[in-house]
Amino acid sequence: MNQIILVKYGEIILKGLNRGAFERMLVDNIKRALGSLEYEISLRQATVYVEPKQQEQIDEFTRRLSRVFGIIWIVPCAVCEKQIETICKTALDYTKDDLTGKRFKVESKRADKRFPMVSQEISAEVGGYLLEHIPSLSVDVHNPDEIVTVEIRENGAYIYCRRIKGQGGLPTGSASRAMLLLSGGIDSPVAGYMMAKRGLILEAVNFFSHPYTSERAKEKVLELAKILSEYTGKVRVHIVPFTEIQLAIRDLCPEEYLTLIMRRLMMQIAQRLAEENQCKALITGESLGQVASQTTEALCVTNDAVSMPVFRPLIGMDKVEITQIAERIGTYETSILPYEDCCTVFTPRHPATKPKLEKVLAAQRKMPVEELVQRAMEGVETIEIDPEFEV
Ligand code: ATP
Ligand code: MG
Repeated sequence: MNQIILVKYGEIILKGLNRGAFERMLVDNIKRALGSLEYEISLRQATVYVEPKQQEQIDEFTRRLSRVFGIIWIVPCAVCEKQIETICKTALDYTKDDLTGKRFKVESKRADKRFPMVSQEISAEVGGYLLEHIPSLSVDVHNPDEIVTVEIRENGAYIYCRRIKGQGGLPTGSASRAMLLLSGGIDSPVAGYMMAKRGLILEAVNFFSHPYTSERAKEKVLELAKILSEYTGKVRVHIVPFTEIQLAIRDLCPEEYLTLIMRRLMMQIAQRLAEENQCKALITGESLGQVASQTTEALCVTNDAVSMPVFRPLIGMDKVEITQIAERIGTYETSILPYEDCCTVFTPRHPATKPKLEKVLAAQRKMPVEELVQRAMEGVETIEIDPEFEV
């Protein structure tokens, strides 16, 4: 029995004249994710066909495809000749283990209208054959445990009863490139994932306060970048030495504005790095009201530091919702490792929650901002993180 994986995509189909470009990007991303596995790939009728050379690797193919943005369903199926007896036999062979003791129904889709039977006739014929050969099986068209699907396509008949939900979204690379401010916390990796899902290529910047934050804290950030890279492909991480800036803020600025001025400088440096690396937007994990520096007034002050669009996909989400996504995408366990972040090192006791921009700007003027930013930029270390394909 010959097995193949049908990869079905959604939103791309709505792309009109650009559809071809989106499809090419999706195929490139699939090839990247499949790495050195051996397979044939082709695109027909809004479906990518992936045919593993070694059938026993189907699960590994499925696992990798389940991380690729733009895919809605991953459908491992049996493929055979468009001939009703062969279809019945193949359906039995392929689905009998899944159907034992179950209530089921058959659904058919006839994309190839030259096939001599209509959908209902195909379903009835295949359903009858399966019932006859699997004694423990029963029919339930309203509440089936399993649905066996038969798709009659141009190039063959495809049979399946299990399909795996894909990530959805748009292919990586279809939405340009953005710079993620990646801390070691729960929020920013989720923010990066959500924007990457809309087709952005990610770069990341981390502000690092050696020796107040340890080498382990840096490794944690790199590990988070690695998990993100499993979805997006290569992620470049820029590590910015931030200690001098934090000490200057601590020594020269009023305590209530420490965090805000620090946030402004982070944004400014992130924007410079973004410009140098062809990124068109910034991404942060800010969520309205989560902490003092994320009130509406505080976000106004932070936003004023940059001119690029800042994507904040978590702005309207609760911590519980964010945490659920972190668990699903696999960043949560790493995010909760207890290493300190640069923000936690110099935290004011009474941060301003309704800061006035003019006052923050006046406080910031006490610092040689340009000089400090310049020096931080000179100390940037850039690390390329590749996804781990082979497990
Ligand atoms: P997270 O859980 O992502 O750390 P947070 O709730 O702790 O977020 P803040 O510390 O106020 O929030 O940071 C807000 C956002 O600023 C983060 O989501 C992240 O995008 C960015 N950020 C904070 N600290 C750093 C850092 N050390 N390096 C890079 N970006 C940072
Ligand atoms: Mg944080």
